[in-house]
Amino acid sequence: MRIAVIASEAAPFARTGGLGDVVGALPAALARLGHDVKVYLPRYGSIDAAKFALVPLDWEATINVAGKTRPLSVEVKHDRKNGVEYFFLGNQEFFGRQNLYHDPEAGKDYDDNDERFLFFSHAVFETLKRDGFQPDIFHAHDWQAALITPLIKTVKAGDGFFAGARTVLTIHNLAYQGTFEKDSFDKLGLPADLFRATGPFEFYEKVNFLKAAIWFADKITTVSEQYAREIQSPEYGCGLDGVLQQRVEDLVGILNGVDYTVWSPSRDHKIPFKYHRANLSGKRGNKVELLRRASLPIRGKTPLIGVISRLVDQKGFDLVAAVADRLFEEDVQMIVLGSGAEMYHKFFQYLEQKYPDKCRAYLTFDDDLAHRIEAGSDIFLMPSRFEPCGLNQMYSLKYGTVPVVRRVGGLADTVEDYDEDTGAGTGFVFEEYTEDALLEALARALRLFPRKRQWTKVVKAGMAQDYSWDQSAQKYHRLFEQLVHS
Ligand code: ADP
Repeated sequence: MRIAVIASEAAPFARTGGLGDVVGALPAALARLGHDVKVYLPRYGSIDAAKFALVPLDWEATINVAGKTRPLSVEVKHDRKNGVEYFFLGNQEFFGRQNLYHDPEAGKDYDDNDERFLFFSHAVFETLKRDGFQPDIFHAHDWQAALITPLIKTVKAGDGFFAGARTVLTIHNLAYQGTFEKDSFDKLGLPADLFRATGPFEFYEKVNFLKAAIWFADKITTVSEQYAREIQSPEYGCGLDGVLQQRVEDLVGILNGVDYTVWSPSRDHKIPFKYHRANLSGKRGNKVELLRRASLPIRGKTPLIGVISRLVDQKGFDLVAAVADRLFEEDVQMIVLGSGAEMYHKFFQYLEQKYPDKCRAYLTFDDDLAHRIEAGSDIFLMPSRFEPCGLNQMYSLKYGTVPVVRRVGGLADTVEDYDEDTGAGTGFVFEEYTEDALLEALARALRLFPRKRQWTKVVKAGMAQDYSWDQSAQKYHRLFEQLVHS
């Protein structure tokens, strides 16, 4: 099949979270199954063209959106190793900015994100045509690529070039929908009827890109089976549970995979000491290095808790804040790597001042450090309020860093709670989103930690888990096949 993957992030080019990891790995896994896969990304100012040896195409094009014509420049990278071709669709005015979505000076998302990603969608169509690449499948990720679907099914419906193409929308996080004021709809150039009350684009009198994509996509996937069920309920549906229920026949949960060429302790070039399941001595070395770098006292018997996360409400930091003092009464240390909401930055700064020999916070995005924390910590804390899939708990399993997680979304699908009677399990799981439930799970972990034999059993059970992409890619492959032959 010819597959066009459309997304706003892909590792290693541009990445703010899990979406980038997934689009960095899934296309290659599909290519390994024999498909012809091309990936379309915005050409952000932050992408280093020299480092990635991007080759500019010599054709000139313009794209008209919202009544204004703007130039489109395209650069290409054909990755011969993984067989995937990447197209970077550029416009200086829209994408020549340092950040992907968020204006750091204004402290909010860019005002013109609707126009930026509308431009991007049309740029994808233009590039496909120029390249003569007629996809069997459009695989669009999240709200930034969501417009592809309604556009294909409406204004492009009569275009023979795209006839027969099927669309798949993957939702990585339903909390981000691409909602805009209602005058935004006029910019889209779509029939007015699509903005009728409770119609595809209308959402409480605003324009909602993701809703329209859910409405029009041939199939909708999300990134774990548990999350696919949860989002049909008002509690997790972010206002779209009704629309999702209407599409339930076409809604599928496919767990994200892990790119073990990047995330496994036996091959990780970013950690000081490599290690594997049969010999964990390198893990101890990584812990010492990490503590030293963090200027925390090196205490072999003290469990070290790692946190790597966007610092947003979703990830459960209000709970962490509520239990922090009680947690630090125990003999524990914690290293946090994250960036996001100002209030959590302040909170972790306060925490490291209050507990200078127990807590260290790095309030930034640093991929190398993320690898070192995975390798050097004993416990990984991820008490999310909701979690579509979550990658860090899967990385933690492979690094022998025992996850403490809430039983929600992809966390529920990937971490098995420790059973004291049998010694089975890969982590510590709690149900209710409450301080007590979190503390109880942490207490169970801290109690087991000194019992080295039992602890090591949990560590090794986690390291034996296999969440590689190949299995998940097979599921996408079968879904695409089913569509193409339907
Ligand atoms: P989400 O996509 O909701 O942010 P995931 O767990 O699916 O959460 O993916 C997060 C990815 O982003 C992981 O690869 C994680 O290591 C990375 N990440 C998050 N915050 C940081 C940070 N501050 N520095 C480095 N990597 C980070």
